[in-house]
Amino acid sequence: MELYKLTAHELKKLICEKEVKAEEVVQSYLNRINNIDEKVGAYLCVSSEEALNKAKELDKKIEKGEKLGGLSGIPIAIKDNISVKSMQNTCASKMLQGYKSPYDAHVIEKIKNEQGIVIGKVNLDEFAMGSSTENSALKVTRNPWDLERVPGGSSGGSAVAVASNEAPLALGTDTGGSVRQPSSFCGVVGLKPTYGRVSRYGAVAFGSTLDQIGPIARDVEDCALLTQHIAGLDKKDFTTANIEVPNYKESLKTDLRGKKIGIPKEFFQEGLNDEVRNAIKESINVLKENGAQVEECSLPLAEYALSAYYIISSAEASSNLARFDGIRYGYRTSNPKDAVDIYVKSRNEGFGKEVKRRIMLGTYVLSAGYYDAYYKKALKVRNLIKKDFENVFKQFDAILSPTSPTTAFKIGEKTDDVLSMYLSDIYTVPVNVVGVPAISIPCGMSQGLPIGLQIIGNYFKEDVLFNIAYSYEQSTKWHTMTPKL
Ligand code: GLN
Repeated sequence: MELYKLTAHELKKLICEKEVKAEEVVQSYLNRINNIDEKVGAYLCVSSEEALNKAKELDKKIEKGEKLGGLSGIPIAIKDNISVKSMQNTCASKMLQGYKSPYDAHVIEKIKNEQGIVIGKVNLDEFAMGSSTENSALKVTRNPWDLERVPGGSSGGSAVAVASNEAPLALGTDTGGSVRQPSSFCGVVGLKPTYGRVSRYGAVAFGSTLDQIGPIARDVEDCALLTQHIAGLDKKDFTTANIEVPNYKESLKTDLRGKKIGIPKEFFQEGLNDEVRNAIKESINVLKENGAQVEECSLPLAEYALSAYYIISSAEASSNLARFDGIRYGYRTSNPKDAVDIYVKSRNEGFGKEVKRRIMLGTYVLSAGYYDAYYKKALKVRNLIKKDFENVFKQFDAILSPTSPTTAFKIGEKTDDVLSMYLSDIYTVPVNVVGVPAISIPCGMSQGLPIGLQIIGNYFKEDVLFNIAYSYEQSTKWHTMTPKL
């Protein structure tokens, strides 16, 4: 049996029933990474020795009959902007090369408490800014379905690791779509939790009012499993909510009777690829057959979400990235003339083009002369869009849309066309702007490339998303397809 082909819940069962050893599971994944990562380039570093040691320790505990955690022996790939103690945390930037994190992010602490095993750190767009992972300063990551295409981004490494069977589970971060869009491009399941559901402590901040850490998995059950073990209140992150985390396993039901799902008419206009549109239409039929009531709805102001997002996220990024000054962390220029020269040259040499673009845009919209015209206005627009969503959720349990208007594009195709790159997040960005949860699940194929369906829920209603997603998944086969590598 090739263990790396199994899902996390299948592996967990085998390990707990002593059918296989955690060490064998970890070894199987390490071999898989060794054999194919050269092709897809998901990993920036693999912690082979540490992971094997942890697995062996766990096997001893299992031998002794000790109580097991919820993620016992499951290898997990971590996006390289989430802190894991003693491991690198480069954010795929020259700026943080050589930096090692002195502490665990809250989610990592939780995973370790449940005996999950960090297997390595994976690639991303520099500081999570991008939609294709092409902005990584360190490495090219390829889509396992077509190696000439991008995996999506910014959590491209996380989605590729899971899609290529190099890890059963991964963590990404989602500021405007970075968990869902790469999940859609790679044919896996990705969740952006409600803002405040999961602690951001230890994740390098991009847009602090938008960022959430989210799980990537091969099926909905695995996605629910990882969410279960990372969600909840954290005293070190005051934006986490003191709201009980339900038992998500209980929401994995196929019956959708009584569920009302809205289709926002504004999300099906120009720019949407025909095959993607058809796949979404077909998935509506599946949900209806499973008992859901599906009707058109309207989010009239959602079209302004992308503009508001780029103002707000860049403003927050420019402030968050001010700390990278060549003094405290990572990269410092050689032979500076004086103190100011250290700042200027270190930032100039350490940051890539896209990061600089965001910093410039952010400082511009926050400057005294333009604050009211751009930043303040964007915040007002944000509030209005929130009202749009609140109105829809008075009538509906969930909203359905494509995750991205297209399937994965070619490497290099959009690198010189910033606007078209930004447009690949048109359906995911509104979700972060208002802070609700959303999941992307595979719902079709177009010319050998996966298509993603996005289900958006009301605040803290991840359980409803799991219910709908699971029901859809049980009636279809898309999640069982794997790329040939
Ligand atoms: N692609 C979007 C951006 O570049 C979203 C990134 C993200 O979610 N981290 O900002």
